[in-house]
Amino acid sequence: MKRTSEITLDDTLGAIAKIISFNTESQRSNLELIEWAERYSGDYPVSCKRYYNEEKTKATTCISVGPMVDGGIVLSGHTDVVPVEGQSWIGDPYTLRRDDGKLFGRGTCDMKSFGAIALAHIPLFSSARLSRPIHILLSYDEEITSQGSIPGIEDFGKNLPRPSAVIVGEPTMMKVADCHKSISTYMTTVRGHEAHSSKPTLGANAIAGAADLISELYRYAEFLEGQPDQSGRLDPGYSTISVGTVAGGTARNILAKDCKFLWEFRGLPSVPQDLAKRHLDRYCAEKVLPRLRRFTSDASVDTTVITEVPGLNQDPGSFAEAIALKLSRTHTTVAMPFATEAGQFQVRGFPTVLCGPGNVDQAHQPNEFIAVDQVSACMSFMSALSAELGQ
Ligand SMILES: [Zn+2]
Repeated sequence: MKRTSEITLDDTLGAIAKIISFNTESQRSNLELIEWAERYSGDYPVSCKRYYNEEKTKATTCISVGPMVDGGIVLSGHTDVVPVEGQSWIGDPYTLRRDDGKLFGRGTCDMKSFGAIALAHIPLFSSARLSRPIHILLSYDEEITSQGSIPGIEDFGKNLPRPSAVIVGEPTMMKVADCHKSISTYMTTVRGHEAHSSKPTLGANAIAGAADLISELYRYAEFLEGQPDQSGRLDPGYSTISVGTVAGGTARNILAKDCKFLWEFRGLPSVPQDLAKRHLDRYCAEKVLPRLRRFTSDASVDTTVITEVPGLNQDPGSFAEAIALKLSRTHTTVAMPFATEAGQFQVRGFPTVLCGPGNVDQAHQPNEFIAVDQVSACMSFMSALSAELGQ
């Protein structure tokens, strides 16, 4: 076992190199990484609890150090990363490369380094005689659905003690972020009825229905632009809607049977995450379906939720904000442009902020990197946390 004073930058960089070496692109299993993390912590008195997906191919783990009582601090991060396919990398993206004060590798910035730094500090946490626990929650699927952390989050206050604050270590350059938009993604499927295009009264054109719905989404997007957030902290400072793909029809002279489109809503944290879907459903029932069913009763429209991730609302004076500001030695909070798992904690009643190493500008890029001085800043944060909770 290591003593407190022996945690060095080299130890921490070793943990980062190891965590990067697991290829945990979101479509793949993260179990090897989870097993390593639990084994790595196993030399110290920790308790681990796993939450598997249905197929048992992925898991979230909660590694807790200290007495299992209420009032602890959650350090939360995701283990999955975005794919490297089609990107041009210098060297292997899954072998950590250090150059010019930077650490290159997929996930260095977003956001495996935070998890590795937390794990590397378990010797410190376990020698600090903590009065309240530190829970390191490592999740999966954040980059695709943001649902992988939910069973773990919902276990706090049940099989796990109730924490007093959650710090999600997404890259904020170790600033405390207390606000981001929600993101909701949908697939809308319009089903019409095939007929010769010269005889519109014999069918229903799914493309016409989809075009109508898409036009309404953009009309609504324009309306939302006129409903900005007054704080001026978000860019853009209003909710947005975008349609990303459309596919439908088989030939020019056939009324299209099917048309599908994928779209998203990024909502101000103060508005419901399903605001745009509810608007579209209403418009569809009132206008689109009656038009589609003028000549045939079997036309339909179905919007399925791919993911609805809540936003993070500013919560001035929360314990999460207070402790994160203190530990990071900063005085003001910022807003972030991207959605995270923080909203999932906050909607379940846990005070939550973001604070993690690295700059999001480097996330999802080829040759993604984190600056070594960001790693050092995060190490100082972990030491301060240990001192704060130690007796
Ligand atoms: Zn991330």
